[in-house]
Amino acid sequence: AATVHRIASGQVILDLATAVKEILENALDAGATNVEIKLKEYGSELIEVADNGCGISNENYRALTLKYHTSKLTSFADLQELSSFGFRGEALSSLCAVAEVTVSTRTEDSTTGTRISYDKNGSILSTAPIARAKGTTVAVKELFKPLPVRFKELRRHLKREFAKLLTLLQAYAIIATGVRIICTNQVGTGPRTRIISTQGLASMRDNIVTVFGSRTAEALVALDESSTDGISMHGFVSRASASFGKLAGERHYFFLNGRPVNLPKFSKVLMDTYRIYTSCGNTANVRPTAFIDIRLPKDSYDINVTPDKRKALIHQEQSLLEAFQKALVRMWEPAAV
Ligand code: ADP
Ligand code: MG
Repeated sequence: AATVHRIASGQVILDLATAVKEILENALDAGATNVEIKLKEYGSELIEVADNGCGISNENYRALTLKYHTSKLTSFADLQELSSFGFRGEALSSLCAVAEVTVSTRTEDSTTGTRISYDKNGSILSTAPIARAKGTTVAVKELFKPLPVRFKELRRHLKREFAKLLTLLQAYAIIATGVRIICTNQVGTGPRTRIISTQGLASMRDNIVTVFGSRTAEALVALDESSTDGISMHGFVSRASASFGKLAGERHYFFLNGRPVNLPKFSKVLMDTYRIYTSCGNTANVRPTAFIDIRLPKDSYDINVTPDKRKALIHQEQSLLEAFQKALVRMWEPAAV
């Protein structure tokens, strides 16, 4: 049954990266173990995300593009306990408003699939039966067409916008263990080229090897910190040695309970500590890399601050930053090498 919640309003689809992010998160929320992202013209022409998740049932076809409709919250109290990526019910309705959206889907217990196209109000334009396996495919055509300025901006700065998308895809590819993620792009009538692909491996390190290569992975060292109050940090940071430092590429991937987030203060601690404690610090252009998943009790942070859920408000941020710095110092101090 449809559950409607008014939690917040606001623009959700800010750019190409957030468009893909929302669709990818829905696929992960649906329990997909296989997600295939097909782009045309780096996503500006077409974004198509196919998953093998639970699919969408009949009674949800109409509601899924309604603003504030989500099937993922059953009560407001759930907001504290949430483990799914989505809960605002804004993504699909916002996507319909800024592009041409088609959804094809099939649940386990339905005998055939259905293809649904939506208009810009999120109303159903047409439905048709199709043959397909269990799962959902969301297609988004001509992103931002109804917004002429953004439409032009995206195409004018496509390289930059695509770079943002790639960074985001890399973050999900690293953290989504056990999920095969493949992204390909086609330019014009040219061949499909592979942008990213993971094998659905079980560990973060395996995913780092797949996404960034074994040389990058070898330049990293594991960081594992846990305290008794349910807080832990797990992941990888650059090694202290200069020879490995050269491989570092200023990749700062932070996750809060498995959700990619921007944590500028953690980035700064990472950079400053690296500069002070390692032999790479004085070398120009050498920047530390980090992939860190911070696990916190659900009530100790809030990612509901911005519509794109990339910003986080951590209640005990200062003490966490100190713990992070201590862990780094322990790893990077010359005596400890
Ligand atoms: P939210 O993710 O916040 O619930 P969305 O607008 O992203 O809101 O999606 C609306 C609803 O559409 C979801 O709650 C879910 O029921 C359904 N949905 C969207 N994408 C998928 C998918 N790939 N697989 C299954 N259900 C989906
Ligand atoms: Mg969603």
